[in-house]
Amino acid sequence: MGFISYPRTAAELRAVLSLGYQEVLRLLRTKQLRINLRSYLRHLFKENQYDDQAIDQLNKKLFAWQEARKEAGLPCGALVYHHSGVRNLHGFKITMIQYEKKADRAIYVKEREKEFRPIRKAWLKDIAVRNAKELEAAGIPRSEIEKMAKYGITPTDSNGKPWYQVHHRLPLDDGGTNDPKNFILIRNDVEHRAVHGYYNPAELRIDRLAYGSIAEVALPMPPEDTIIYPNPALGYVAEIVPHADFLEIYHDD
Ligand SMILES: [Zn+2]
Repeated sequence: MGFISYPRTAAELRAVLSLGYQEVLRLLRTKQLRINLRSYLRHLFKENQYDDQAIDQLNKKLFAWQEARKEAGLPCGALVYHHSGVRNLHGFKITMIQYEKKADRAIYVKEREKEFRPIRKAWLKDIAVRNAKELEAAGIPRSEIEKMAKYGITPTDSNGKPWYQVHHRLPLDDGGTNDPKNFILIRNDVEHRAVHGYYNPAELRIDRLAYGSIAEVALPMPPEDTIIYPNPALGYVAEIVPHADFLEIYHDD
């Protein structure tokens, strides 16, 4: 059969897609087909991007994947898209959330801009003192922990670039608050970016959500028993997984 093993154009991609989802997965798993995952997801997600029901379906499929893993006795995790490869964020849990986008944007801006900054600063100082051992074990050098404690800033890498960020476990835009219990220090690249990746169904749905309306989204929630991610001591690491694993979640039956 004369299919193209490495489609590069939209027409070539369409030809591959016409083989059907199961066949594409089989070819991927047997390494007879290489695809640019981004092109494939663009096809799957972008053609549905104005269809709320289709995106709701994608969210349900991601949650069903989590539930199936639980039933099989597998540890929780979240498969998230990143341009450098799909990751399984071990310890994360895909959770269905009734997501309500705040109608009052002034409140959101106040919480995001004014309120968050000083609370974040105080929290960073606090964990640098109280959780110094945990931070060091997770790979933050002592010199960075000392800077955190002194200035209340996030760790930077050896080039002085932002390395970690403070992430709201439950987004501020929804019911999330600036209570430090809702914070986790998360590595920027790849983990934080992957959590907010465009090709994650929750992000896609939230993006389209009108102010003041609600949607049920499958949100990757960080593990509760750590203040930092990744945290290898607890097995919380981002593992690169085959693209086929990600595509399989969204299988159309
Ligand atoms: Zn975040």
